[in-house]
Amino acid sequence: MHPLPDSRPRCWVTVNGVTDVVIIGAGIAGLAAAGEFLDQGRSVVVLEARDRVGGRILTRDHGGIGIDLGAQWLSPGNESMFYLAEQAGVQLIGPSEGSVLVRTDGVVRSLGFSDQGAALSPFETADFGQGVVRLRRLAERVHTDPTWASANEVWLSQPLGRWIRTNLRTPGVQRNFSVLLGRLGGDPDALSLRQALDIIASSNDLEDLYTVSGGLRLRRPIGGMGQIAEHLADRCWENIRLSTRVTGIEYDPQSATAICDDGQRFEANRVLLAMPPWLALNLDFNPPLPAWRTEMLAAQTVGASIKAVLVYDTPWWREHGASGQMSADDGAVRFTFDISDPNGPGVITGSFDDDEAVASSALTPQERENIFVDCLVGVLGPRATGHSGYLEHDWYADEFTAGAHSPHFAPGAWRVQGPQLGEPLGAVRFAGAEYPDRNNGYLEGAYRSGIEQAQAIIRSLA
Ligand SMILES: Cc1cc2nc3c(=O)[nH]c(=O)nc-3n(C[C@H](O)[C@H](O)[C@H](O)COP(=O)(O)OP(=O)(O)OC[C@H]3O[C@@H](n4cnc5c(N)ncnc54)[C@H](O)[C@@H]3O)c2cc1C
Repeated sequence: MHPLPDSRPRCWVTVNGVTDVVIIGAGIAGLAAAGEFLDQGRSVVVLEARDRVGGRILTRDHGGIGIDLGAQWLSPGNESMFYLAEQAGVQLIGPSEGSVLVRTDGVVRSLGFSDQGAALSPFETADFGQGVVRLRRLAERVHTDPTWASANEVWLSQPLGRWIRTNLRTPGVQRNFSVLLGRLGGDPDALSLRQALDIIASSNDLEDLYTVSGGLRLRRPIGGMGQIAEHLADRCWENIRLSTRVTGIEYDPQSATAICDDGQRFEANRVLLAMPPWLALNLDFNPPLPAWRTEMLAAQTVGASIKAVLVYDTPWWREHGASGQMSADDGAVRFTFDISDPNGPGVITGSFDDDEAVASSALTPQERENIFVDCLVGVLGPRATGHSGYLEHDWYADEFTAGAHSPHFAPGAWRVQGPQLGEPLGAVRFAGAEYPDRNNGYLEGAYRSGIEQAQAIIRSLA
């Protein structure tokens, strides 16, 4: 992704000296909003702290290949993003075919998801693997630890369906699990967790029951998601000011001013804060943020993620029928997937998440590379040491994100409190992935939030 070349014209379009809207953040939400304002003939300035647009979309060039170190996947229902991809002329591709490898208790099993033409998404793969591990451990414990089983009798009597809904996080896997475990004894809502564990402990291994189909079909752009961010930025480059970090906001009901670290002030009728909500705590608000907002923001789980990529001369794992997707119940990198472009080198990505990301953030890139390779060797074998390149991005250490993709595998708190935090604050409005009640945490949610907030602001200015 290229920063704004110096030669591009810059015009800070204003009406009577005051800009209609100042947007803080040129991620997908800020860019979507900027385009909407311009389409409606409004004046807008976008202030972006980084020297690039895209925010948590980050495509790096590696020998002529675009590799995503941030957001990468689109799922069914992401209509706006699919439409943008089409407009941008970006070709989309699905996960690679082949078996998914699951490593539990040090044993690698191959799941033939591809036999029915359906592959699991990376998130589903991880979710599925963790669900299998938890069920197998529970089944073992119920039979080896009668004291524990008796102490937890009430909990074990819950319907299996409820356990599935509360322990598995992706709807596709919840459905697949219900179908799979329904084969054990009928309707999962009519079967107790204890009954299911008894059957699992006394019958074939759980994996023997897998004939999973219907996993969500994800798509990713060949050449990287950065193309879509650039496509949006192409509509408003002259309104974007890169490497401009906002440190404070003065506001009242009629207007607001963004103050930058170099002392520049941008006054507008409205300021749209399109940066990760938790970073608002670093801004100096005048008047100060209401106590409830500060407390709510401070109490949120933000998450942490280091996305890592290994490049090989070829996607050699496909020769063995493997899809490159794996899920493991231990190790620093617990799921991986193949993101090779057609006819390109072999590329496998994985991520250090949450506690593993926090702990690994203190290590060197070389140490993280070694750890990732070791994790892959544990599943794919020694050939995984033959990589020719390593790329990573530590989103937790990156001061302009200082977190990750909040909703994936997090407690989902943003879904509940995001809409509340998105309420206007005087002339300050909020947009971004964490605010909407639909597609919360995803690109689609960020884009829609940007458009919706822009439209609400335009109505409020009419
Ligand atoms: C590793 C990773 C993988 C992901 N994978 C997927 C995926 O596959 N599919 C999916 O749909 N979503 C995915 N996501 C989530 C997705 O990236 C986000 O939901 C989305 O990009 C958020 O967009 P946004 O515009 O709300 O925020 P951001 O993209 O965070 O944009 C906010 C912008 O504000 C800027 N900013 C911050 N502070 C300041 C300041 N003080 N002054 C000025 N500017 C500032 C930032 O630099 C940034 O450009 C992933 C996220 C991560 C981290």
